[in-house]
Formats: sequence, structure tokens, C-alpha cells
Amino acid sequence: MQNTPKAPYYLQRRIIGKSRQQIPIQAYFFEPRESHQKSLPTEGFESLPEIDTLFFGAFHGDEPESATLMFRLIDALVQDPSLLSEKPVVIVPIVNPDGLLADTRKNASGVDINRNFKTDNWESSLPEDHYYAGLAPLSEPETHAVVNIIEGCKPKKIISVHTPYRLVNYDGPNPQTQAWAEDFGNFCNYPVEASIGYPTPGSFGSWAGLQLGIPVITLELPEGEPLAITWEATKNALFDSIGRTMPPS
Ligand SMILES: [Zn+2]
Repeated sequence: MQNTPKAPYYLQRRIIGKSRQQIPIQAYFFEPRESHQKSLPTEGFESLPEIDTLFFGAFHGDEPESATLMFRLIDALVQDPSLLSEKPVVIVPIVNPDGLLADTRKNASGVDINRNFKTDNWESSLPEDHYYAGLAPLSEPETHAVVNIIEGCKPKKIISVHTPYRLVNYDGPNPQTQAWAEDFGNFCNYPVEASIGYPTPGSFGSWAGLQLGIPVITLELPEGEPLAITWEATKNALFDSIGRTMPPS
């Protein structure tokens, strides 16, 4: 009988928080087997490994294409671990499960998670606003899950996926973030824009990219496009991003 060779990667799904409605927020950890520590808890933020690339989908629940693309990426990495380029990668396909189930941009408290980060420019807004930022920065459990995984895993770069603008937006130290975004745009043939065109106080990009100095790409997918087409357009940009070593800022 032949021994089955061990997969070169260790894949673990960990719960990194719960939504306002207590739905688990799950993260898929791909770690090189040699650096993986055994018997880690399957929930919480203890013993988180440092990682290279971190992906987020479905910050906004009415953007299901972003979650679907992240699950397609997980599947591709399981099928062909060489795409990981021997780097630790974490994928959080659904940041806002309450919103995804309800098909709403906001979470179950009616807060736009992408305006709920503790940035210098955070500002309050009204509950009926499209971009309602919550009663205070970090008021929402989904925001805490995102903050905790970044503080615990110290990613070197982050990709956050949204719809519907079909473009590549970036925040973070330059010129390396801009160079990455331009390569990304070339791979998927999407336009690259340094600013999305309207102020985004309390946004994830403002916090992680501008305040923490982590290179962040916000990938805006077209809305309603079949997954097979979106995947073909973006997969090489995603794979190149995983393999890319960011120069120090
Ligand atoms: Zn969005």
C-alpha cells in the first residue's frame, strides 16, 4: 500500500467572531505545514499565525458576488496548493452574514460595517443613511472580528471584495500599493482608481490602508455577472497577489 503524500498545506476553518444575530464569522487558514502549530483552538484569536495575504468578502450583504468569488478561490487553493507560493493565506468569505441572509448592505443593527472602523475621520450619521456608521466606531461585532484578525495575524497585504463598480481601488503606502494595484488591474483588465470618488470616513480602507499602513486593494466586481466569467477575469490577479512579496514601506 502506498502512503498518500501529505498535503503541503494545513487548512483550518476557524470562527473569528459572531454577527449581531450570532451567526459565526468563519476564516479559512491556509498555512504551510512546517510552520503550522498543532491543536489550535477552532474559535477565537489565541495563537493566530502571522500571515501574508488576507481576503475579505461580503462586507456588504447585498454583494453576494464577493462571497461567491472567495469560496471559488478557497476551492482553487485546495485543488492546487502550489498557488499559495508557500505563503500563509487567510480568507474570510462572509464578513456580514446577517446582511447576506437578508440581502441588505448593512448588518442586523442597520450599520454599514464599512463605515464602522475607528479612523481619525469617523463621523456619525443617521440610521436611515445608506452609509450609517453606527452609534460609535467599533460598535458592531463584525467590525471587531475584522479588527481582531488583522491585529492577530498582521497581514502584509489585504484584498477586500465588493460590487458593483468593476474597478480596482487601493489604500496604503506608496509606491508599492499603487504598483500592486496596477498589476492587479492589468491582470483582470479592470480600471484602477486611487480614490473611489466619494469620501469614506470610517471605512475599512481608511483604517487598514491609511491608518495602519497595510497595502489594501478593494476589488469592485461587476454586479450580477455569472461567477464563471468573474472568476476567469480575476483569478490570475488573485493568484499573482498571493505570490507577490510586498516590499517594506
Ligand atoms: Zn460594498
